[in-house]
Parts: sequence; C-alpha cells; structure tokens
Amino acid sequence: MRSFVQIADAIGGTSKKLEKVRLIGEFLKSLSATDAAIAARFLAGRVFAGHDERALGVGAATLSRVIAETAGQPGHVLGATYRKHGDLGGMAEELLRSTNRDGDLSLADVARLFDDLAAARGQTHKAELLANAFERSSAADVKYIVKITTGDLRIGSKESLVEEAIAKAFERPLAEVRRANMLTGDIGETLTLAAQNQLACAAVRLFHPMGFMLAAPVETPDELFDKRDGLELPPLLVEEKYDGIRAQVHKNKRGEVRIFSRTLAEVTEFPELVEPISELPGELIIDGEILAWRDTRPLPFTELQRRLGRKRLDLFVQNDIPVKYVAFDLLFQDGELLLNEPLTKRKAFLDAVCANARTALHVAGGRECRTAGQVQLAFHNSLQAGHEGIVAKAATSPYVPGRRGGFWFKLKQPFATLDVVVTGVEYGHGKRHKVLSDYTFAVRDGERLLNIGKAYSGLTDAEIREYTDFFLQHTIEDHGHRRTVTPAIVLEVAFNNIQKSGRHESGYALRFPRIVRVRRDKAAPEIDTLETVAKLFARQTVRPEEV
Ligand code: AMP
Repeated sequence: MRSFVQIADAIGGTSKKLEKVRLIGEFLKSLSATDAAIAARFLAGRVFAGHDERALGVGAATLSRVIAETAGQPGHVLGATYRKHGDLGGMAEELLRSTNRDGDLSLADVARLFDDLAAARGQTHKAELLANAFERSSAADVKYIVKITTGDLRIGSKESLVEEAIAKAFERPLAEVRRANMLTGDIGETLTLAAQNQLACAAVRLFHPMGFMLAAPVETPDELFDKRDGLELPPLLVEEKYDGIRAQVHKNKRGEVRIFSRTLAEVTEFPELVEPISELPGELIIDGEILAWRDTRPLPFTELQRRLGRKRLDLFVQNDIPVKYVAFDLLFQDGELLLNEPLTKRKAFLDAVCANARTALHVAGGRECRTAGQVQLAFHNSLQAGHEGIVAKAATSPYVPGRRGGFWFKLKQPFATLDVVVTGVEYGHGKRHKVLSDYTFAVRDGERLLNIGKAYSGLTDAEIREYTDFFLQHTIEDHGHRRTVTPAIVLEVAFNNIQKSGRHESGYALRFPRIVRVRRDKAAPEIDTLETVAKLFARQTVRPEEV
C-alpha cells in the first residue's frame, strides 16, 4: 500500500491533468500485472470491476466507529475533525497519525479485505474486518482504504484519466483503451489487455452490463437548436421521457435473460418481464426503461417504487401494479456491437426485433423534429400522455456509454414548486465542508412548521457563504455538524413528486428537491401549507383514468 499512498498523494498534489496522467501511467507500469489491475480500479474510484455487482455495504457510521476505536478517541472528537477535512479518509488519517504505525498491507490484501467486506453479513462482522485491517495499516493507508470504501478518492483521479494513463503508459490508442473498458466493464482487465497488446480482443460479454448513455438537461426547446446554430444538422428524434427505472436487458440464444439497473446491479423484481423478453429472437442487449403501466397510461413512479426491493414476489402487488418494458435502443445483436451505428438504424433494428413481442414490451416511438416548435408540440403531447417530458436525441448519433452531453437532451416539466422555510442547516461535503450548504426545510400547518425535505443544491457559492453567516448568527440549537435555525429564509423548491414518508414530521417527503431561488420577498408566515402538499400529493396519485 505504501507506494499506492505515495502516488495517490502525488496525484492529489498536482492540479495539472497531464501530470496526473503521467504519474498514474508510470505507477501502473511499475507494478505486477495483478497489482496494476487492482490499482487501476482503485484509482478509478472503484472497489471492484465496474461490471461486478457486489457492494461493500459499509455505512459511514460503521466506518466512523471503527476509526474512532482504532484511534482510541471518543466519538465526539470525530465531528470537528471531519468538518476540517470534509471527508472520512482525511479525518481518519489525522486521528490515527499519533499511532505512528507502519502498514504492512499489500494492494492484494486490501482487495481481499473488500471481497471479505462484501461477503460479510451485518455491520458487526464488517466492523471487525475493518478493525483488523486498520490494526495493520499506517494512518495514510487507512486514509485511502476509507476513501476507496466511500467511493471518492478526492485526488482528481477518475476513470477517464486512468484510461488516458493506460493508453500513454502502454503506448496504445486512447480510443482502443476506452472501447475495451466499455466492453469489458473493468478498467483492471482493460489494463491487462493493454499491457499484453490484446485490446482488440475485448468483446461484449452478455450478462456483463455496460455503461448507460446519459442525457444532458435543457430548460426549453429553443436551447436544443441554439447550440446547433446555423449548422445544417440532422434532425432530432424526440421520444417520450418515461418516469421509471432505467434497465439494460441482456438475452442469449438460449432465452436466458438478465436485467441490469443504472448502477449495473441486477434487477429481479419484475419476473413477468423475463418471459416476453426471452421470446425475442437472437442474442440481444437492449436499453430501455421499466415503467408502471395500466391500460393505456403510465402510472406515477411512486407506484413502481412499491415494487422495488421486495425479495419475494407478492402476486397482489404484481397484479396491482402492472409493468411494461419500453425499449429505446439496441446495443448488441447476434455477436455484433451496434454502438457506432446511427440511432435511426439501431431503432430500425429494434423495431424489427420487437415486431412480434408481447404487449409487456414496447418500443419507444420517436418523432422527427427539426424546429423548436415541433419539439414543443412533442413535449406537450408527451405530458398529455402522462409522461414527465421528452428526451431529444440526435438522429445520427452513436451510443456513447457512460457519458452525458452531446447527443441526448432531456426536457422535463417540474411537477410543482413550493415555498418553504429553512429550519435546519448542515455543513456540506467536499469543497463545501466549511459552509452550511445543506438545508432542511418546512411547510406550515397553522402555527406549526413541519419539515418536509432537505436540499443540497441550487444556490451559488456566494449565496451559500452569505447565508452561512446568517445561519451562524441565527442558530437556535448547535448540534455540531447540524444546527436548528430561526425560520426566516424562504426558498422556492422544485421537485419531481411527493412521497408519503415517516422521515419528516410532515408525513411527506419531496423527491429530488432543488432550490429554485431564495424568496427574499416572502416571510415565514407566507409559506405553503401542509394542506397544499396534501392536495398536490392527491393530484399526483389519482390514477390518470380517474382524472
Ligand atoms: P433523469 O433521471 O431525470 O436525469 O433523466 C435521465 C433518465 O431518463 C435516464 O437515465 C432514463 O432512465 C430516463 N429516460 C426516460 N425516457 C427515456 C428515453 N426515451 N431515452 C433515454 N432515457 C430515458
């Protein structure tokens, strides 16, 4: 681990991208094949290979407790040290520095620790494994073990830089490295292939999920065309934006099917989709969305959510909340990777594949649009049909896994906004760890204020600094990391929908809340009420056919 620590510190110590790439490349080249593969994953911010579905399942509370115990420090010291660094790794290093221990763990030992952690059941067992490892580690080793565990090294190293480093170190074309990484779903294996000059051998493997292509947000249809100013560009294919779960479907010739979510984890809650998919012809990898659906209309995401996380299938829930798989892209068919084919061609293939599919499968329709007016109309029709917006895709574009921007754009209607008041504040994370940037907010019920959500984003750094001063002066209770504050700052928050929830005292929680603006013109007594929330909630859960 010592050399890993040194190099990671060095990478964190320079802000120059090229220098980071050089350091990573030289380091990877200096290691044995096995160690290099492990280090490549760690430097890419991954614990395991990307296609590996295991999760460590180690909570921040467990990590903090083991760090405190190893350091022989009482729990309350942690808060202040954490605030100083803004991350658990930095906190651990400072607390353990006085132990002056030399570490003797190798990279392979750390990889084994992660295997054991993923396999261990329960936080007690996981804590024991961590404690044993920390006893054998220097303060700096623990810092990086913790950082890798939490998935954030904070040294400005990310997977794309590791790809560049591999290309440089082994003198291979970057495009080949990226392609191999996408196909194998493992930066470690990619490194091995690059070292052996075998990048061309990387192949799609069914049942190993690949990265998903992502869409960049736009606020208006005009924006889609602003960026394309004056250029004679191909049209956009505008699809409905489905509010469900993104799902990559893999199917082999024998009719075996597996479905993967955006986190590349397997989705097992929808067995009724497996049979219709297994009947499709040939080998396939399809991208699409699982949606709750009744008769001719989609149901709100909150309905679909009731089916998630259930271990055993409850027939009642299955009948009560029917689902559909809406396919919108075809990535692989019968041994051929289609990513570089234009979207229109991929969709034509997809139409052919699904021509005789059962009704539980459906191919997203695409409307060709060349003007903002046409997009606006498609947007309007999509909302009328019960969807949450549109996704506009460049008709000739390739499928680019794992990247946002460039070819796909999403346009959504915020469900509603509410005016709320800030009742509690917390220190943020990362570069915001010294400012109070996370706000808990409430709506009004008569004289009472009832919390309904928490938002992290939406304000500028200058605004956050200004309000930090305000909140420090208007603290009612100081809990260290968290403060209860005088309810004076009114925010307008947008959100996607409202859920019933025991998390907040209002009995509701806003899904994906974001701050639209600070309402300096409003005072706390004028904020929205619990009654309004209940009405919005009812409006959203009324089944479309009952409207
Ligand atoms: P958001 O989750 O709001 O950031 O929007 C991106 C997500 O929209 C994607 O990850 C997909 O799960 C989903 N989505 C819904 N409909 C489509 C579509 N027609 N094409 C691509 N993505 C879609």
